[in-house]
Amino acid sequence: MLKHNFSAGPCVLPQEVFKKAADAVLNFNDLSILEISHRSKDFVEVMEKARSLALEHLGLTGKGYTALYLGGGASMQFLMVAYNLLENKAAYLDTGTWSAKAIKEAKMFGDVNVVASSKESNYNYIPKDYTVPTDVDYFHFQTNNTIFGTQLHETPDVKVPLVCDMSSDIMSRQRNFDAYDLIYAGAQKNMGPAGATLIVVKDEILGKVSRQIPSMLDYKVHASKDSMFNTPPVFPIYVTMLTLEWLKANGGIDWVETLNKEKAAKIYNEIDNNPLFKGFVTNPEDRSIMNVTFSLHDESLKDRFDTLWKEAGINGLNGHRSVGGYRASIYNALTIDSIDALVATMKELERTA
Ligand code: PMP
Repeated sequence: MLKHNFSAGPCVLPQEVFKKAADAVLNFNDLSILEISHRSKDFVEVMEKARSLALEHLGLTGKGYTALYLGGGASMQFLMVAYNLLENKAAYLDTGTWSAKAIKEAKMFGDVNVVASSKESNYNYIPKDYTVPTDVDYFHFQTNNTIFGTQLHETPDVKVPLVCDMSSDIMSRQRNFDAYDLIYAGAQKNMGPAGATLIVVKDEILGKVSRQIPSMLDYKVHASKDSMFNTPPVFPIYVTMLTLEWLKANGGIDWVETLNKEKAAKIYNEIDNNPLFKGFVTNPEDRSIMNVTFSLHDESLKDRFDTLWKEAGINGLNGHRSVGGYRASIYNALTIDSIDALVATMKELERTA
């Protein structure tokens, strides 16, 4: 029996996508997807489909945005963003480990104004009381903090270009995506396997910095080559295309957002009503609908609980080492059945403790 996979990423993808991806490894138009040229007509079609589906899901088709799939992970974007957009000053919101890493890279390119940080309380809330100066080149933040289980539910209302790492909630919920100037996200949560990163950039914000940009780090170079400046990660992009097709066939982001909210509500409801558990995030309005962080009040129950969820076929529930406790990552492809399996083990612990 397949496990209920609550891993934070790489993570669960739709079964149907796994099957189609496996088929394509064996036979994709009479070759393996792993052996075809990225310049072949078949793969150019895959790339174009994956790029156009990303824009379509985000409601950005025909609005002056370009979608790219590059290697290097979201971590590469921490520096590419600054390389391409930071001329003098940028503002950053520090909501977690990944924000701090992005800030570290940006500091190599200009002044970085960290407008607010929740670091002092181990990032268990999203700071809201801050102002973004109007003279910065852009404002950078993460919509969802994978490690801590916090999520920004409102798009910040600021007058400067918005640059956003949506690695762990891309394609999971609606936002006013056209308020953003650059969105990036590693594929390995809601889109595909590790190896490709989606970048959606508003064309008009590029080409404004005075520094020279090495070709591989220059969004304009990648855009001018239709995301094929060098050999792209062929298989991850193919699987991403399959996942975006799956999402579209089922009703798109609107459909999955309703499902994701239902899934999250079930677990938070159990955390709030089961006296053995507590949530990590202090403000309920900052809770993530993708990564649910929680722990036991009484650590002496840990072995018993760990045995219960492992016996129930649950995988990947341990919290990140900087938070401890548990983290249920409940990305798009995780089913309600898996949520029910987890909730049942929490109830079983209460019943037998
Ligand atoms: N940003 C966020 C929000 C993440 O969750 C992660 C990784 N889980 C990263 C950035 C870094 O991504 P990558 O490992 O693809 O570089």
